[in-house]
Amino acid sequence: MSVGVAILGSTGSIGRSTLQVLARQRERFRVVALTGHSNKDLLAQQAAEWKPAFVGLVNGGTASCLVEAATHPDVRIVVNGIVGAAGLEATLAALRAGKRVALANKETLVMAGELVAQAAREGGGEIVPVDSEHSAVLQCVAGRRPTELARLILTASGGPFRTWNAERVSRATVAEALKHPTWTMGRKITVDSATLVNKALEVIEAHFLFEVGYGRIDVVIHPQSVIHGFAEFVDGSVLAQVGFPTMELPILYALTYPDRVPDQGVRRFDPVAAGTLTFEALQPDRFPAYVVGREAARLGGTAPARFNAANEVAVQLFLEERITFGRIAEIIERVVVQAHAGDATALEDVLAADAEARRMAQEAACS
Ligand code: NAD
Ligand code: MG
Repeated sequence: MSVGVAILGSTGSIGRSTLQVLARQRERFRVVALTGHSNKDLLAQQAAEWKPAFVGLVNGGTASCLVEAATHPDVRIVVNGIVGAAGLEATLAALRAGKRVALANKETLVMAGELVAQAAREGGGEIVPVDSEHSAVLQCVAGRRPTELARLILTASGGPFRTWNAERVSRATVAEALKHPTWTMGRKITVDSATLVNKALEVIEAHFLFEVGYGRIDVVIHPQSVIHGFAEFVDGSVLAQVGFPTMELPILYALTYPDRVPDQGVRRFDPVAAGTLTFEALQPDRFPAYVVGREAARLGGTAPARFNAANEVAVQLFLEERITFGRIAEIIERVVVQAHAGDATALEDVLAADAEARRMAQEAACS
């Protein structure tokens, strides 16, 4: 019997890559539910091809369709490919219903890592990361005891502005920010990769996924995006996971974990074709938004939720060409520094912090 899969955000970059993977794995998986936000035509096309039991359109339909899809009785795995805080409720519901959540929607863990862990404990669900760095780490640590792990190193491409001077970066255009050197992704995460907010979100994501303290999570710039992550063990030995950049491998692994299955879909790795791999220290003064993210992580409580919410607002304003690129970091910093970070152990508190940070970010953008 094939395993039932729900794809939240099937019309997005992660959603479409997931369907590519499933098209090669039809004997193992079947699509039970699909949801999209506003791309009605593509959703209809996907529904016609996959004939899922459930199809939900959020815009013009209802937001509750995400929870309905995520908790459908025939679903065993929920691929959460939604962008932003909108994915939280469905993640919590799926975990409480005992499902596996193959999580691309990192904002969920950043906002409410403790609540997500609690939902998994209570409902018997589990989170398996789709994010390539975290998939890499999971592949390195799979089967090891937590006490054997010393340190995680996440790689970052450095984004399109890695070699630009600060003045030029501050007035970068939307088109320039959307030109990622190694990955093709949705607009929000592509801007996050240019500010390196994405990497700060990933540090927080790694903290909650692997229960590792922030002092033991490092980031290194690796422009080729061939090594996705490293795990260092207590004996000093280091494992890395390697491959040409594609989300299809981490998606497949999140579906089959802890097993591996034969798959011919992605370009096989070739070290000679990969060529020279280089690594650079991340220079904090070049990526102020990353620094704010690390500070939010250190503060804990609702600070990561505020960081995430302020960033969502600032990125949206930048994409609408209402603020300059340089102001994204400035706005996020103002919100994180001004707000007092309370506990993040109740959903109401997290949602209140999220709402307040969005208001503060809008205000900061106008001043
Ligand atoms: P995208 O913009 O291409 O797709 C987002 C999807 O979410 C769309 O299907 C859209 O319909 C849906 N959506 C948007 N707003 C919604 C809302 N309010 N309610 C319900 N659905 C909504 O984004 P993406 O690049 O696929 O990224 C999705 C998530 O995966 C993000 O959290 C991102 O950080 C993460 N991620 C993406 C990649 C990648 O390669 N694209 C890699 C790692 C992690
Ligand atoms: Mg990533």
